[in-house]
Amino acid sequence: MRIVFIGPPGAGKGTQSVRLAEYLQIPQLVSGDMLREVCQQQTELGRQTAEHMQAGRLVPDEIVQAIVFQRLGEPDSEPGCILDGFPRTVPQAAVLDQWLVENRHPLAAVLGIQVPEDELLERLAGRGRQDDDREIIRQRLQQYDKWTRPLLDYYSNRGVLQIIDGLGTTDEVFDRIKKIVSKCQGSRQ
Ligand code: AMP
Repeated sequence: MRIVFIGPPGAGKGTQSVRLAEYLQIPQLVSGDMLREVCQQQTELGRQTAEHMQAGRLVPDEIVQAIVFQRLGEPDSEPGCILDGFPRTVPQAAVLDQWLVENRHPLAAVLGIQVPEDELLERLAGRGRQDDDREIIRQRLQQYDKWTRPLLDYYSNRGVLQIIDGLGTTDEVFDRIKKIVSKCQGSRQ
């Protein structure tokens, strides 16, 4: 099963995707983690990647794609995987579609986690991470609106989008996800 998570910063995407990966016993591929590893490298690529991330901007598609597709091709993802943070732009989604067709791996579902903006701001302000100061938060939400939100239409048009209400406890949200995923599993049989 291949499942994509989409959600603005603060929606709980990371928490829920790790739980779902454990539940389905498949790897969770987190583009943000892969890129943070690249930032540790003492290379020009590492320096450029860090510059984008620290400013709250998206990393250019070519850089992200090179890293994610290498990981997607590893044998542990053969039975399926949870994609957290990728794709984040329509061009990334188009390239992913092509890869999925070539590798005969259809997407089982795209889960779009929705949380109202005032709740997101409250959650993000409470995180206290170094990169979460107010300006960076604003920038990351803007980048989501500009680049990532259009993916909801993209996947809705393909009939794979499932909207998840992200309000409530993590258990409540995870129960909603499990229900949707079991329906998707059922409809594939
Ligand atoms: P995350 O941990 O998912 O919030 O990602 C942290 C940061 O990594 C984002 O703010 C982006 O700068 C970068 N990033 C992660 N995934 C992508 C992606 N698919 N495309 C572009 N940039 C990304």
